[in-house]
Amino acid sequence: MQVRRRNPDRTVDVPGPRTVGELLDHLDVNPTTVLVIHDGQLVTSGHTLPDDAAVEIRPVISGGAGPMRCFVCREPAVIEEPRHRSAWCGPHFLDHVHGQVRKAIDAPRGTAWSDDDGHGRRMFSYGDRILVAVSGGKDSLALWRVLLEMGYAVDGLYVGLGIGGYSDRSGSICRDFAERYAAPRGRRLITVDLADTYGYTTPTGSRASDRPACSVCGLSKRYVFNKVAVDEGYDVMVTGHNLDDEAATLLGNMTRWHDHFLARQRPLLPATGTNQVRKAKPLYRLSEREMAAYCVIAGIDYVVEECPLVDGNTGHEHKEALNLLERNSPGAKAQFLFGFLDRAEAIAPAPDDAGDTVGTCASCGMPTTSEICAFCRQRERILKTLPVSG
Ligand code: AMP
Ligand code: ZN
Ligand code: ZN
Repeated sequence: MQVRRRNPDRTVDVPGPRTVGELLDHLDVNPTTVLVIHDGQLVTSGHTLPDDAAVEIRPVISGGAGPMRCFVCREPAVIEEPRHRSAWCGPHFLDHVHGQVRKAIDAPRGTAWSDDDGHGRRMFSYGDRILVAVSGGKDSLALWRVLLEMGYAVDGLYVGLGIGGYSDRSGSICRDFAERYAAPRGRRLITVDLADTYGYTTPTGSRASDRPACSVCGLSKRYVFNKVAVDEGYDVMVTGHNLDDEAATLLGNMTRWHDHFLARQRPLLPATGTNQVRKAKPLYRLSEREMAAYCVIAGIDYVVEECPLVDGNTGHEHKEALNLLERNSPGAKAQFLFGFLDRAEAIAPAPDDAGDTVGTCASCGMPTTSEICAFCRQRERILKTLPVSG
């Protein structure tokens, strides 16, 4: 059959017979956005069109024709986001991301704790000294740029994990970014190399302690983030965890009912006890895809490849499961995470342990609930087995 489509006017040949519904499906047209006209009559989805039919599919949504347009300025859009039922041109998409980050900073969900350190429930303020952990990936570099653009006093911290060429590229991308965006604003990049400072790398530490690379890496990073922030006098440590990261972690913690982790899953965690800084995740409202788009539009060079040590890690399965849900009902991922955060104090209350149960490590002075902290214990185990280099 000859099918006439409009805006722009064109004719496509589709074999028949088939019903109107099947035809629209075949052409990937949403039935609620068009009228179908056969022999001058309107026809509905069950109507069968013979092979020799001449049919017109006429769009009915004004402004819906042609290229999608930015919902702010009506210029052609470069990205659409079904979750927000919006599309944006480049500059207005950058504004959208900034707006979501601003919302996260000003009113983070799940922070019912009353504040006694003078910060309010904001993640941080203009007077705070902020340290952002940058990995060379899209999220953390974009976050550093957003915060600098907003005028926050934010330095970067890169931890060299010794994962071969992958770490080499990550480090050099962070240094280039720092030179281009941070240095002109008087901000700096701090670099800590695990091997130089602590005597092991992620791969050597994983082999020596017979622990998965991701667990050695995660514990080391969390420790170094807090230690550097404390030693250098920062008020808050921020990371680039995004909506997909947080929703996937939540799903993982819920399927296994890790109550302890659920109680600590918040975009803003206060400092509890000595030698601890507050932690914030200002990207928790933005998806992975939005952050990648931000980097492309803003011209940020980032490491696209995945860490070579990650394999079969369950975080990825949880992301895939959530993406499946999101595909059929846009917004599902955000509803899942935000819904949890809005109820978090009722279903997984944050431990009321400020200062009491948290002591300091006898070896390094960082916070711990045992005598020697998990990091020092892990490091000792690693160094005992590692051949002494020299
Ligand atoms: P990941 O655990 O790799 O998903 O990273 C989560 C966040 O941790 C990133 O967005 C960064 O803020 C931070 N991060 C990860 N790797 C590093 C690194 N090597 N150095 C500094 N920060 C990092
Ligand atoms: Zn626009
Ligand atoms: Zn320690």
